[in-house]
Amino acid sequence: RAEYQAKSMALSDAMTRACDFYKLQLRTAERAKEYLIGRGLTGEIAGRFGIGYAPDGWDSLRTVFPDYDATALVEAGLVIDRTDEEGANRKRYDRFRDRIMFPIRNTKGQVIGFGGRILDSGEPKYLNSPETPLFQKGSELYGLFEARQAIRDAGYVLVTEGYMDVVALAQLGFPQVVATLGTACTAIHVQKLARQTDHVIFSFDGDGAGRRAARRALEASLPYAADNKTIKFLFLPSEHDPDSYVREHGTAGFEQQVQDAMPLSQFLLKIVTDENDLATPEGRAKVQFEAKPLLQAMQASSLRLQIVRGLAQLTQTTPTEIETLFELASPAAR
Ligand code: ATP
Ligand code: MN
Ligand code: MN
Ligand code: MN
Repeated sequence: RAEYQAKSMALSDAMTRACDFYKLQLRTAERAKEYLIGRGLTGEIAGRFGIGYAPDGWDSLRTVFPDYDATALVEAGLVIDRTDEEGANRKRYDRFRDRIMFPIRNTKGQVIGFGGRILDSGEPKYLNSPETPLFQKGSELYGLFEARQAIRDAGYVLVTEGYMDVVALAQLGFPQVVATLGTACTAIHVQKLARQTDHVIFSFDGDGAGRRAARRALEASLPYAADNKTIKFLFLPSEHDPDSYVREHGTAGFEQQVQDAMPLSQFLLKIVTDENDLATPEGRAKVQFEAKPLLQAMQASSLRLQIVRGLAQLTQTTPTEIETLFELASPAAR
């Protein structure tokens, strides 16, 4: 236990020092600054998120880490080790080279990982820190530390897909924003958000991937849906993500999107009816078939009851018939 603590302190210390180094590098990296300016970022917002730049060299971190060969740097995911099995041909080099660096913080504010964006159109576009003892992608949300007070003030949180979405929305009047880290929204994410606020608005990209992400976010949210919680989905035009939308349509334009966000109940009924023909018994049966696992994932609540009622209307049945069909009518029926 003491050993584990010493190790995570060494990792945490390495991340902090790397973050400071990247921030300092950005000051004199004209190409990187031009890139950020080209994307509309101000120096103020870059500072607020601690954005930096990893120089284009194989071992730039050596200047801040005289102990470049220490294992902590490899364990922190800052340095890649290509030593072969015999321990010969030892090669170590910086993971992040010539990238814009977004530090990812935990809720205590400690830097636990980085996302690094390439400046041109190379691959991969984003490179994230690997999983380390400090950093588990499926449970962290980019921007949560920076957003916490704003979430309380606004009374809701916006959940986006990307680093740039968070930074752009925060800059243009929506600091109550976080992002999942290139992964699907998990139950752990939803649980973490539910601890901060009773109102969550998912705001993914307008493209197919974003729409699929919204569907998965719905599934992850269903167990947490409750009568005192509001969960909504904001759907942007297919060519936009929150970053591009707010920059093109401004704060008022995005505020309108927030106002128009679709409540969970409506999204659920839309998903199950979208591709089925409500005019035929077969189509209505398919709607109920698709709704069943979704409704079974929800706790008993007034909200669930009302979704069942909506479903009953659409499928020309009654709520009781639906519950009987789902074998959830009453404890006696189980
Ligand atoms: P940008 O506006 O800078 O082009 P974006 O955030 O709009 O980036 P998307 O392609 O929409 O990028 O991807 C959304 C998010 O998914 C990114 O912010 C990043 O967290 C993650 N991501 C995208 N591409 C990759 C990749 N190649 N490897 C790892 N994560 C990625
Ligand atoms: Mn996308
Ligand atoms: Mn984008
Ligand atoms: Mn995007």
